[in-house]
Amino acid sequence: MSNANLLMIPGPIELEPSVLRALSEPQRGHMDPYVARAFSKVIRRLREVFHAPGGQPFVVAGSGTLAMEMSVANLIEPGDSALVVNSGYFSDRIAKMLQLHGAEVTHVRAKVGDIASLEEVEKAMASKRFKAMTITHVDTSTAVRADVQALAAIAKRHDALCIVDGVCSVGGEALQMESWGVDVAFTASQKALSAPPGLAVLVASQRAMAAWKARKKPVASMYLDFAEWLPIHEAYEAEKPLYFATPAVNLLLALDASLELLISETMDARVKRHQRVGDAARAAWRAMGLELVPREGLAANTLSAIYFPGTVDAGMVKGVGARGVAIAGGLHPDIRAKYFRVGHMGSTNTGALLTTIAAVEGALKDAGHRFELGAGISAAQRLLNA
Ligand SMILES: *Cc1c(COP(=O)(O)O)cnc(C)c1O
Repeated sequence: MSNANLLMIPGPIELEPSVLRALSEPQRGHMDPYVARAFSKVIRRLREVFHAPGGQPFVVAGSGTLAMEMSVANLIEPGDSALVVNSGYFSDRIAKMLQLHGAEVTHVRAKVGDIASLEEVEKAMASKRFKAMTITHVDTSTAVRADVQALAAIAKRHDALCIVDGVCSVGGEALQMESWGVDVAFTASQKALSAPPGLAVLVASQRAMAAWKARKKPVASMYLDFAEWLPIHEAYEAEKPLYFATPAVNLLLALDASLELLISETMDARVKRHQRVGDAARAAWRAMGLELVPREGLAANTLSAIYFPGTVDAGMVKGVGARGVAIAGGLHPDIRAKYFRVGHMGSTNTGALLTTIAAVEGALKDAGHRFELGAGISAAQRLLNA
């Protein structure tokens, strides 16, 4: 047994053995044909993962925040307007970046745990000309999932680019980038893609690439500029290494191993598995008398956000840790101390979920919450075995 806790936070997450093995391979150079082959596979497989056969993938050393800034830096010019469908902490983050890159930002906000209605978004989009709409697919601070398909259709009607923060969704939630008309979607290696942290992953549609090419002002960052990275990605896809900035070789090998597992499971089956695990988790929390942060019908399947009951406080998260399971505290500034978060994305299976529910039950009992011990486990079991 490893001495690390079972990692059930919203990223990084538990890794499969083949991914761990890829990390421990001998160091190779970035011009090595073996590395070029892996990079090429990663690029081609990302089109399948994002359902974007005509898209241009980019994989750059950095975290999800870098991928977020890459989308903004390449598509936004000073003076552009952008509409942020704001569902929490990470929507605020992209809004700040949009402003830093010169955009005038309009928010369509909702109460914590909710998201603006399609009617409100439609109305805001009609109020002026927007270059882009941004959507946080799953806001990891509230576990609210946005209806990307419907929102992307609104963006398209108003001729705006649709930028999707898929950091907590890609690889766990349904995202049909091309058929839904999404122009940029990005994620990070350590979330539902099930690789270690350290890679920013972005896919741009041909429409997004055309918008980038049509810019009047240069991109205000060399490291983020598609102009630097496009030739590199085209070359590596053809298994011909080319240098701009040293790629994170070992992380690429690990991501290749992980995407192999995603593709062999198939994206459809993976989304269905996340739905089953998400349903079971929510049934467990409710059976323990807990209240969820997301409004009914908006809950994501990649993580749960749950209010502490009664007088229970954040000390309970430590109690879960003492039982061998790492979960996360709050993140949204308005409710930070009032709730906790449990990740259930990636390879989360019945065993990991039941272990986590049992640890939460034990810690809640210790903290004085009154409920029938085993109620959560039993509710989850019923769904997992249905
Ligand atoms: C984690 C996360 C980010 C930020 O990713 P980092 O890898 O931590 O930089 C952005 N958006 C969402 C929705 C996330 O869950």
